[in-house]
Amino acid sequence: MAGGVIRTTCPYCGVGCGLRVASDGTLTGDPEHPANYGRLCSKGAALTDTLATDGRLLYPQIGSRNANWDEALGRIAAEFTRVIDQYGPDSVALYVSGQFLTEDYYVANKLMKGFIGTANIDTNSRLCMASSVAGHVRAFGEDIVPGCYEDIEQSDLVVLVGSNLAWCHPVLYQRLVAAKEQRRTKIVVIDPRETATCDIADLHLAIRPGTDVAVFAGLLVHLAENGQCSHPWTHDFATGYIDSLDAARMTAPTLAAAAAIADVSDADLKQFYAWFAATERTTTLYSQGINQSSSGTDKVNAIVNCHLATGRIGRPGMGPFSLTGQPNAMGGREVGGLANQLAAHMSFADPADVDRAQRFWNATRMATRPGLKAIDLFEAALDGRIKALWILSTNPAASMPRAERVRAALGACPFVVVSDCWPTDTTRFADVVLPAAGWGEKDGTVTNSERCISRQRAFRPPPGEARPDWWMLAEVARRMGWTAAFEYHGPADIFREHAALSAFENTGPHRRIFDLGALCELSASQYEDLPAVRWPLPRGTSEPWSSAKRLYGDGRGFATPDGRARYVPTRYRPPAVATDEQWPFVLNTGRTRDQWHTMTRTGRSPRLMAHQREPALDVHPADAARLGLTEGGLARIESPHGATVMAAGGGTCDLR
Ligand code: SF4
Repeated sequence: MAGGVIRTTCPYCGVGCGLRVASDGTLTGDPEHPANYGRLCSKGAALTDTLATDGRLLYPQIGSRNANWDEALGRIAAEFTRVIDQYGPDSVALYVSGQFLTEDYYVANKLMKGFIGTANIDTNSRLCMASSVAGHVRAFGEDIVPGCYEDIEQSDLVVLVGSNLAWCHPVLYQRLVAAKEQRRTKIVVIDPRETATCDIADLHLAIRPGTDVAVFAGLLVHLAENGQCSHPWTHDFATGYIDSLDAARMTAPTLAAAAAIADVSDADLKQFYAWFAATERTTTLYSQGINQSSSGTDKVNAIVNCHLATGRIGRPGMGPFSLTGQPNAMGGREVGGLANQLAAHMSFADPADVDRAQRFWNATRMATRPGLKAIDLFEAALDGRIKALWILSTNPAASMPRAERVRAALGACPFVVVSDCWPTDTTRFADVVLPAAGWGEKDGTVTNSERCISRQRAFRPPPGEARPDWWMLAEVARRMGWTAAFEYHGPADIFREHAALSAFENTGPHRRIFDLGALCELSASQYEDLPAVRWPLPRGTSEPWSSAKRLYGDGRGFATPDGRARYVPTRYRPPAVATDEQWPFVLNTGRTRDQWHTMTRTGRSPRLMAHQREPALDVHPADAARLGLTEGGLARIESPHGATVMAAGGGTCDLR
């Protein structure tokens, strides 16, 4: 704290803006934070509207009665122990959240993978960025975002794919708008919908949903045929170029073929390809339109292939750039919070990694293989394989795909624990509810899309008996018999251990880039005052802990057996949507600007509710005219998975 001001981080999107909260409660953007330099969006600016504690969960509950912490934690420990003894470790699961702080994530992951002995821990972040994780690992050998936000400002061409930046990452949009005014950055938006982001686009490619792979396959072919590929990057720094080019040619042998698949004009696609080919400083930003897809990983690699081929990676103003959705999706990836990850960018695929994590944790029962991913995890709860499930900081009964099925799974699971701040659709299914400390009440770290670790700091006490998630997890672990391994006195202890694991035996030619060795001996006051820092931070990096902003620019350091990047052959596969007479339309989802998650917080702010009061259905004007839909009229939407009624247009689109 300086001058009564607490510096902390916004808990909403993956931009990770720094905030200053004054002692009178006034909240402003932090002018020194590298993510936002003082800027805020409507959600961040309205954060204090969400701090009222009326309706908060204040006490642990068992069934419908209040309980004390000791009783509730003892019940969870006893039930998890009983289920594991009777059915084995794979009969229990945790479902966690990109809202978690890294310290929460670390304890949850260690408990499951090192002590309970299962990797049945997954996170809602899977839904927003697991495709990018897999794409990065395939291309770079490790889950690495090679660039930084400054690249957006130093680009001459910014390509936005499946990203409504104006609404989903508004402060980055503000930075892009300012850059465009200064250096006349060209902007291409690739998105089936005409979103708010198209307001600044020089070219909008309204592609047929799910055809991104074909667009970038066509681009790779175009780059190769026009001599734009970089020889070192096609032959020395990476492998698989020829195979990937062959695969691209199978999908899009000509520009016209790519345009036909994507349902855009040859002229528009030619313009995009020409700009990409001619512009050295090109950054491709991609988000949920790429990630949330049955071919998401191929989409990521189709984009990365084009950047590798041109050597446009890890240098100022260029690179493929995955924008994470949630405030700490990246922190979750660092600790291994996905069911198919181990920890600290180590992998179940390498027995040496499993052995290393086991020795570091002194783990009593080590998971040795991936666990159930989010969708499969709830399916397992539905069919009886999962018998005890603990959900923390997320609301899957409302937010998961096929939510009806998830609600059935929660109803079928014999023992459900939910930790949250407010009652939600999910707490209704809980046998035990635990009151969680929320933003402004808990302490720890988050990592944003550009690998920048920032502190979230508490500036007020939690209401009632609410406690941080890491504390609940550690207390249950202690009650299950693992006292010494979970003897944490605060988040600083956990962060130091997390940093130490990242550096543990992390040497040699194939060392992992994710390395926080410089932070593993932080004093309490250093942790308290930790400024925003970007990893990698290996041992020997000293204060002010400046590290590489960009990675791989010299074509070296990939965490692959030969140290080279990998092109990944990708083939276009149409999305598995029913397009017969019964289901003649493709339904896509988007986001509203001022709401977050399932509105458990933002729905409490009148000014945020004012932007758009209800969900809306955007329909192509020609379809609307044919169906007789008018602006604001109600439309019933049915799919094989369910049905709903929404206002058509809802004021967000022009139904001419
Ligand atoms: Fe918060 Fe994202 Fe808005 Fe920044 S851009 S203030 S991190 S919601």
